[in-house]
Amino acid sequence: MTSDAGTNAVDAEHLQELVVANRILFDQGVVDAFGHVSMRHPANADRFLLARNMAPRLVTADDILEFGMDGEPVAAAGRAVYIERYIHSEIYRARPDVKAVVHSHAQAVIPFGVVAAAKLRPLFHMGAFLGEGCPVFEIRDTAGRGSDLLIRSRELGAALARDLGQRSSILMRGHGATIAADGLRRAVYRAIYMQMNAALQTTAMQLGDPEFLTPEESEAAVSSVEGQIDRAWTMWRLKVEGKLG
Ligand SMILES: [Zn+2]
Repeated sequence: MTSDAGTNAVDAEHLQELVVANRILFDQGVVDAFGHVSMRHPANADRFLLARNMAPRLVTADDILEFGMDGEPVAAAGRAVYIERYIHSEIYRARPDVKAVVHSHAQAVIPFGVVAAAKLRPLFHMGAFLGEGCPVFEIRDTAGRGSDLLIRSRELGAALARDLGQRSSILMRGHGATIAADGLRRAVYRAIYMQMNAALQTTAMQLGDPEFLTPEESEAAVSSVEGQIDRAWTMWRLKVEGKLG
């Protein structure tokens, strides 16, 4: 159903799922005051849902706005929006299969975006979705040498989406990472385990030369481990709702 403002009705359950995703990402140390998570609109594939400009931990259902594929809010009513919303819009435009996007400045992944010789690769089964390794987006290729590193235009968002290709994640040099998935829970799961894989890889590299998963092991591990995402989601959700005791 489309309202007079051009927005599409969203049921409370979907809105709450996105609120919970914001809180889980904070609770698990993936986002802090910065970073954001979006989902494609469940009733209109040409729209997506993203909070207004605020810290993820503080997001409520009332803070979630609808955006078009141009990255602009449909009816923001004067509320400020994230500068980097074009990360989301351009990935949704380029990838019809993507239903959710997480963007973070997760600490453990940052080093892998700035040391060319250290490629982020699947070190353990929970990071198997990293496949043959995570590419690095170099903003200088599009914005030159004087940018503030933020994806603040459609052009930059499109360049990021192009480098992401059909993969599930991409590092952003000197900035952070972006994760795309076919569902909100999988995007959150991968954002959490991408950070964990990065931390473990840093430790392993201090010990010696790590042995990574083969592409075949990665493929097998993704299908077995990611069949159990709901198990983790249920626990993460209860924790942020204060119900774990
Ligand atoms: Zn950012």
